[in-house]
Amino acid sequence: MADHLKYKAQNSVNLEDILKDEELKSVLKRTSKIHNFRRSINNLLYSCSKEVGFIQFDIRKFKIINDIYGERFGDEILDFIVKKLEECCGNDKLFINLRSDVFMVVTEYDDEEELVEFINKLDREISCFKDVKLQLSYGVYTVEDESMELRQMEDRAAMARKAAKNNIVTNIVFYKEQFKESLYNRKFIEESIQTAINERQFMMYLQPKYSISKNEIIGAEALVRWCHPERGMIFPNQFIPIIEENGFIRKVDYYIWEEACRFIRKCVDSGIETCPISVNVSRIHLQDNECISVLDDLIKSYHIPKRLLELEITETADDQQISLKALELKDEGFKLLMDDFGSGYSSLNILLETPFDVIKLDKKFIENMMVSDKGKLILEHIVLMAEKLNLGLLAEGVETKEQIEVLQSIGCDQVQGYYYAKPMPEREFFSQLEKQYSKKAAL
Ligand code: C2E
Ligand code: CA
Ligand code: CA
Repeated sequence: MADHLKYKAQNSVNLEDILKDEELKSVLKRTSKIHNFRRSINNLLYSCSKEVGFIQFDIRKFKIINDIYGERFGDEILDFIVKKLEECCGNDKLFINLRSDVFMVVTEYDDEEELVEFINKLDREISCFKDVKLQLSYGVYTVEDESMELRQMEDRAAMARKAAKNNIVTNIVFYKEQFKESLYNRKFIEESIQTAINERQFMMYLQPKYSISKNEIIGAEALVRWCHPERGMIFPNQFIPIIEENGFIRKVDYYIWEEACRFIRKCVDSGIETCPISVNVSRIHLQDNECISVLDDLIKSYHIPKRLLELEITETADDQQISLKALELKDEGFKLLMDDFGSGYSSLNILLETPFDVIKLDKKFIENMMVSDKGKLILEHIVLMAEKLNLGLLAEGVETKEQIEVLQSIGCDQVQGYYYAKPMPEREFFSQLEKQYSKKAAL
């Protein structure tokens, strides 16, 4: 080896060694910090005559904050929180930065209100840093059995923190026994999902959409079903929120989108009158460009007209990024359906920002509106608004004849729900389409 290369190699080895040494030091420092912290908790549990509570919290979307403002800014936030914790905790509460943005406070208290008051005070102090709003999720575990292992107590506070993340009503959640079960469930799903994809355990079900006045099928929504060899049918609400967190939703959605395209191709090939099939597009897809190219590739490889594949996007918090991405999909020529209209807080804002073609009224929203005259009036005006804005309107989750009558009387003609049909395997839906086609052809 040439001398200068030897020198470089030697140098880089040294640098690596130094780095390793630094890493090791930092791991050791952290371990001893946690070790000391646990010792202090044990002392507290042993000596204190009051109740003891574990409060664990983290920052919602901390990764995104890091991506947008840079890691240095992220570190500044963490230092800021440590400083505020020092002020709020004083000498009578213990706290630690467990890792990244996860913190824990352990404190004695008299009643739970006192704990909530402390959290609210802390939250006021740390929920804003340099004009950036921070949303924090707090999980609380109150010690009942002091002989339980410390790790277990910490895990329970962590479970409550995770539950607080998904809670839209409050950001403080106390541990409940049921969390344990849901954690096992989550683990099962996370561990089985790759096999499910490899073994094609997912199936596309189709739920027809009807025109009340014509009494005929005008389209269908593709809904995923997980047919697990041991557990049987697993419904999307049980696994979609979990796989949205770990990104697996992309694979599942791509699979269903392809199944929908294959089905549309089959209908076109068999010469029956084809109706559009809508697929669900998780918010995760709207964070980057991948979904547009995936959809375009599918449309090309199955040779289907774009108008036959419609996209359902769920109404969520007002989010500019989602609106921009939706605009791109619209520019690509896709028809956009706004899913679950009326289930969130900002439906009207989103309507203004995002170029939807059709509004799908949420099942619960319709139910709530139908119980009073005032509600029916609101529904009536939504129908009028959709008409004026040149938007299609479809009522979801329609189950009864009375609902159909009310919807018809106010001019909402398109519906989807158990009253007409439940989601079904594609074979069944295909034969319904065939029947409808031959009936019409015979007229
Ligand atoms: P969604 O998009 O709002 O779909 C409508 C849900 O309401 C479906 O539940 C459907 O079976 C149910 N439904 C329809 N009519 C009625 C009715 O009359 N009564 C009642 N009680 N329910 C009715 P499902 O299939 O369990 O799906 C739940 C949610 O999971 C969907 O809500 C959607 O958000 C999500 N999802 C389903 N399939 C997919 C998928 O392939 N990709 C993605 N990203 N999400 C999906
Ligand atoms: Ca939908
Ligand atoms: Ca919906």
